[in-house]
Parts: sequence; structure tokens; C-alpha cells
Amino acid sequence: MNIKELKIKGKKYKLPIFLPDATLGIVRSLDNRALKEVGTRGVVVNTYHLNDTPGTDILKKFASVETRSLQQRPSLCRSGIKNFMNFDGLVVSDSGGWQVFSLIKRHGEGGEITDEGVKFNIGGEKNKQLGIFTPEDSIRIQFEIGADILICLDDFTGANDSEEKIKESVKRTILWAKRTRVEFDKIIKEKKLTDKTRPLLFAVIQGGWSRKWRKYCAEELLKIGFDGYGYGGYMVNEKGELDEEMSKYIAELIPDEFPKFALGVGKPWDIARCYEFGWDIFDCVLPTRDGRHQRLYNFKNDNTNEAEANEARLIKRSDSGALSLASSESHFAEATRDKLEVIQGKFNNIKNLDLKNPDNYEFLYISRGKFATDSNPIGLDCDCFTCQNYSRAYVHHLFKIKDMLAHRLAVIHNLRVYNRAIEELSFVTPPMLGTVDAE
Ligand SMILES: [Zn+2]
Repeated sequence: MNIKELKIKGKKYKLPIFLPDATLGIVRSLDNRALKEVGTRGVVVNTYHLNDTPGTDILKKFASVETRSLQQRPSLCRSGIKNFMNFDGLVVSDSGGWQVFSLIKRHGEGGEITDEGVKFNIGGEKNKQLGIFTPEDSIRIQFEIGADILICLDDFTGANDSEEKIKESVKRTILWAKRTRVEFDKIIKEKKLTDKTRPLLFAVIQGGWSRKWRKYCAEELLKIGFDGYGYGGYMVNEKGELDEEMSKYIAELIPDEFPKFALGVGKPWDIARCYEFGWDIFDCVLPTRDGRHQRLYNFKNDNTNEAEANEARLIKRSDSGALSLASSESHFAEATRDKLEVIQGKFNNIKNLDLKNPDNYEFLYISRGKFATDSNPIGLDCDCFTCQNYSRAYVHHLFKIKDMLAHRLAVIHNLRVYNRAIEELSFVTPPMLGTVDAE
């Protein structure tokens, strides 16, 4: 069973939610207006990288700064990172566990992992100054960043680790989670935060391929007690596909009253599958990274009627401002509302699509020569800014001449595809963009 919403610091966030990667406080090439328009309601930032640039001194300053921007709305849940980015959606800070894994375990260089913490010999100056990066450091820095959901530093289990290695990483993940819990509670007390004003704390279930150790890890973390639980190091089978049995098994280890975060998941069909198993929160670098690398996603729907889609696109283009920014209290005329319904009907042709089936998606490698003269939009049935305004030929051209607009247009389209899938899973209707004030 899935949770329908999360309430954090006086705000409600609808679930399921997909969080694109904003490592350094930016979904690369996208401003917050574009994020809103594609339906992005939250992002993941990175503790380790933000600690280095711009550094928490600057973010702490922004937690209390009175910003001059006309577009900023005063709100209780403003924080360092949210003020800095001027972003009102859900912000999750990743603990840095994955960086530890990729810098040290995967590449076998740059530092060492002990029960005390992680010694980095590489990375930026501010991280080097730490000497050792402990679970306590990670959570303290996450408070300074000011995210809504903070995540315990964990010891990532590698996909091919031996049982001995798995045991070590699970034990360390539990030890670090205990210490994180203590530090988190200490900071809550110091800052006099209440259940209504504090961020949430999530722990991550490690254990690689071993059901025994996944179960042990989940049980021990549940005993300590957290606000939500994550699926760490999601498993793929020999074909490189999501290990569905394991995803389902881990979701079942977590009681249904807790939000379940499938970290790093994934491809759109994997998200749809994991949602069915009970996972509600997803984050992945794929749509943004693939977009920048000229790999564009589409739903494959044989029912797409090109003429109808084009007609809908033309109506929408003529009213684009009113339609895309419409809200209940704005000058949203009856006639426009009717048109929007017609357009949504025509665009919304993924209703009967099995989103769990990879065959229902296709990729456009936009750099291929055949697109140089293609006057169609990237997605025939797509309602994103890119598809409403530009042809495949133009996006192909922008990549060819290496104009930075190419990245932006590609990422807008890919994120819209992801968010349409999420909207379809949860029956969230655009332009409902997700964050509403709690009562
Ligand atoms: Zn599009």
C-alpha cells in the first residue's frame, strides 16, 4: 500500500514523487519556472558536494536572509537551500553515502572507511579539512543545508560483495544510523524544533543480494525508529534489469505507515513497478543526464493520432500562457477551461498504457542524421514546452552546434515524460503542482 502524502514543516507533498538530481542546488540548465512547468515537485541535493560548494556558511546565511526577489513567497518552510535556490518544492539531502562508495569502494582510491567514519583524501578543500567525515558530520551539514528530508550516512553494499562484506556494511550502516539518530535528536533539542517544524529523518536499508541481511538491517533500523526508510543499492539481475523480487521483498519489510524511498530508481518502467510494490519516492540522474547526452524518452503509443496531436498543440500554443499557468483563482475563463479539457483529453493518451512494460517506451537518439529534417516535435503526444515550440530538427541542430539551449530543451522533455508517468500512477492532474499549505 502506498502513502498518499507527506507532511513536513507545515507543508504537504503528494506522493508518489520523482526527484531529479540537483547535486549542487541546480537541476542543470533548468530554472525553477521550468521545473514547475514540467511538474517537478521536489529535488535531491548532495550533502558532500554542497558542503564544498557553496559551503554551509553561505547556506546558513540564506536561512535567515530577507530576499528581495519579487517572486519569493514568505513561508514557514523556507530554509537555506530553498531560499538560495528560490525553490518551494520538497528538498531531500542525500547523505553522501553513494559518494563514499563511488570514490573509495568502486575506484579503490581516495580514502578509507572505518566504523568511525570516512577518510577522504580527495574532493574539495572544505571536505578535506574535515579530515574524517562522520555520520554526525553528515547530519549536521544536512541541517545546515536545510532540506526537508535528511538521510543517515550509510555504508553502501556493492552488488557483488561477499556475504562477509555484506555483513560488515550492514553492521556499519546500523551503527551509523544509531549515531545519526542521537545527533539528530540533539540538534532538534538545541534548535527547539517540534514535530511540526523539524525535517524528517530517513535511514537506508543495505544488504546487497542477501535477503537475510536486508531483513536484519530493516529490523534493526525499525527498532531505532525513523520517519521513513530507503532502499539502498537497488539490485539488478544479470540482464541489468531491476530485481523485482528483491524490490518487493524489501518494501514488505517496511510497515505501510512509513514512506518508502527507492533511492536511485530508476528507469520509468522500474518506477512504475516499484510503485506497485509500495515504494513512493524516487530519484534518479537518468532523465537529466540522458537528456544532456542526446537520449530522449517517449511513450510508445500506437494510438497516437498525429493530426489530433498537432491540432491540440496549435490550440494550446495560442493560449499557452493562460493554460500552462492557470490556477483556480486566476482569470481562468470558462472557455479556456473547456479548451484545456479537450487538450488534456487529446494529450493524455497514456491512460491505457502499461507503464511497467519497457516496450511501451522508446528512445530518440536525437543526434542521428535522420532527425536533421524531421519537423515533428520530440514527442507527438507531449505537452512540454520543448514539444510545444520546437521540432526534432531544431533540437538536433542545437546539439550539433553545441548551443546550451539544447541541454535545456532535452532535459525539459525528459523530465516531463517522467512526471507524466508519475501523474498517471497517482492520478495527479496537471497543472496541480503538488505543494499545498497544510491546515
Ligand atoms: Zn516534450
